[in-house]
Amino acid sequence: MQIVGLNLEELEELVLKLGEPRYRARQLLDWVYKKGIDDFGQMSNLPALFRERLQEQGLAGSALTQAGAEEATDGTKKYLFRLPDDFCVEAVYIPEKKRKTVCFSTQVGCAVGCTFCATGQQGFKRNLTAGEIVDQVRKIGVDRRTRISHAVAMGQGEPLANYAATLKALRLLNADYGLQMAARHLTVSTSGVVPAIYRLADEKLQINLALSLHATNDELRSQLIPLNRTYPLAQVIQACRDYAAKTKRRVTLEYIMLEGVNDGEADLARLVELTVGWLCHVNLIPYNPVPAVAYRPSAPRTRQRFLGYLQEKGVAASIRQERGAEVNAACGQLRQHLKL
Ligand code: SF4
Repeated sequence: MQIVGLNLEELEELVLKLGEPRYRARQLLDWVYKKGIDDFGQMSNLPALFRERLQEQGLAGSALTQAGAEEATDGTKKYLFRLPDDFCVEAVYIPEKKRKTVCFSTQVGCAVGCTFCATGQQGFKRNLTAGEIVDQVRKIGVDRRTRISHAVAMGQGEPLANYAATLKALRLLNADYGLQMAARHLTVSTSGVVPAIYRLADEKLQINLALSLHATNDELRSQLIPLNRTYPLAQVIQACRDYAAKTKRRVTLEYIMLEGVNDGEADLARLVELTVGWLCHVNLIPYNPVPAVAYRPSAPRTRQRFLGYLQEKGVAASIRQERGAEVNAACGQLRQHLKL
């Protein structure tokens, strides 16, 4: 078991069991989250005997070890983290002026199997624990010697298929004793797990929801995102509209633009129909080719046509500036280069 991943109540219970006063829990959390130290040996204000007992109990500070990293010229950095059972996951650091974002993983592999996604090609291995999730963000902040301001569950895995661990990790990122990140700076990106979207809306957390939309009819969406066969488009859009209405948070609709696949005039007309009149934002994403996958990116002029028409119809929209493509850290491109 690791300290990162335990909430305050769990850690207090643990230190009390070890015969220590309750405040030791906050001391431990201070070392791990505020000072970025996860080696018990360096936690100098804790009694040596207590530190020994933590180790005897098989406890560790951290869940992850850094197994590799690649940095792009724009400062984007992709990390490979090794888990206690030797599986590896990736996370990405994206610096932009004052905003420092980490895109983190929630599963090893992914069962959804989106046809444009590098992770989707390798299948599902296992869920990450809350500690393994939150530690990606914490460790990157320590490595970059910076305060991570934003975090997005947009790496490997479908976050809402690992609901409990993802939610616990988000609460730890937000907690005053954790990484103290504003809830409105945290985003969960889903391929459309409808019951979990409703559950998330009831959590009373001001976190953002992003939906991988990518197609405007069921036939194409089911081809691109097989989960659409279980939760078809109308249900997914209704769940997102209800999320926006309940939380008053604008839902982001991600739309990877694929040449000759989803970038025609009929797609654009349907996209407007699906998005006009409710609290959403369409994010048009230039596709970054994945080896062994046949899709190609839409022409820049087509992206501009989509952007202009959506805006003309009163739909909030933008074209995502892709960062880190040279290290394969862009959307759908994790698990390509760093060898396990
Ligand atoms: S895009 Fe996301 S949900 Fe789809 S296969 Fe890749 S990791 Fe899974």
